[in-house]
Amino acid sequence: MSCAFTLDHYGELLEAASAGGYRFATFDAPPGPGDLLLRHDVDLSLDAALRMAELEAEAGAIATYFLMTESVFYNLASPEGTEALARLWELGHRVGLHAVYPNAVLDERFDPVVAWHNPDPGYMTAPIDDAVNVMQRGWFDPATYRSDSNQHWRSGCPHEELRAGAFPLLQLLTHPEIWVYEGATMGETMRTMLDAERERRLAQLVEDRIDLT
Ligand SMILES: [Zn+2]
Ligand SMILES: [Zn+2]
Repeated sequence: MSCAFTLDHYGELLEAASAGGYRFATFDAPPGPGDLLLRHDVDLSLDAALRMAELEAEAGAIATYFLMTESVFYNLASPEGTEALARLWELGHRVGLHAVYPNAVLDERFDPVVAWHNPDPGYMTAPIDDAVNVMQRGWFDPATYRSDSNQHWRSGCPHEELRAGAFPLLQLLTHPEIWVYEGATMGETMRTMLDAERERRLAQLVEDRIDLT
């Protein structure tokens, strides 16, 4: 099995987790033995999030999507954002806030759970009033955490350990853009995403009655 950052291999990770006996858990309560917390920080693309969410739903997996209200790259308050939220709920997923410090303003769109975007060590694991911080004690431990940051697993792709049931429990952070868009490196993947974005933007311009002739 090749460990490419593709939706196919993400599907294989989910299969491996099921084979390893893991239960798809959410952040409502601290994780217990056998729990797999699928966490997605959505930094760049709602389209990518939805594609991953559809695949998970088909695989019977439940994930928590952390969406931004202050993203440079997408607008959660736009029709596109509202539709994305509705579809995530419809698929059975949870939605938390991917917050930019210090603004953890939760409204009715979010479960009371926060993941800081690019956190500094000073507040990364600190508890938050009235919400769970995904990195706080009880929910996070470096030994039971894996992340695909910048298209790189620091401790290797976890699919074999998942299949073997080797983690007592796991918080698995993945960024949908990395898996949905092709590229052997983060740089290539980002360029693929921007090419797709250009086509999407052109279609939006036409829809907005801009004459592109
Ligand atoms: Zn793998
Ligand atoms: Zn982020």
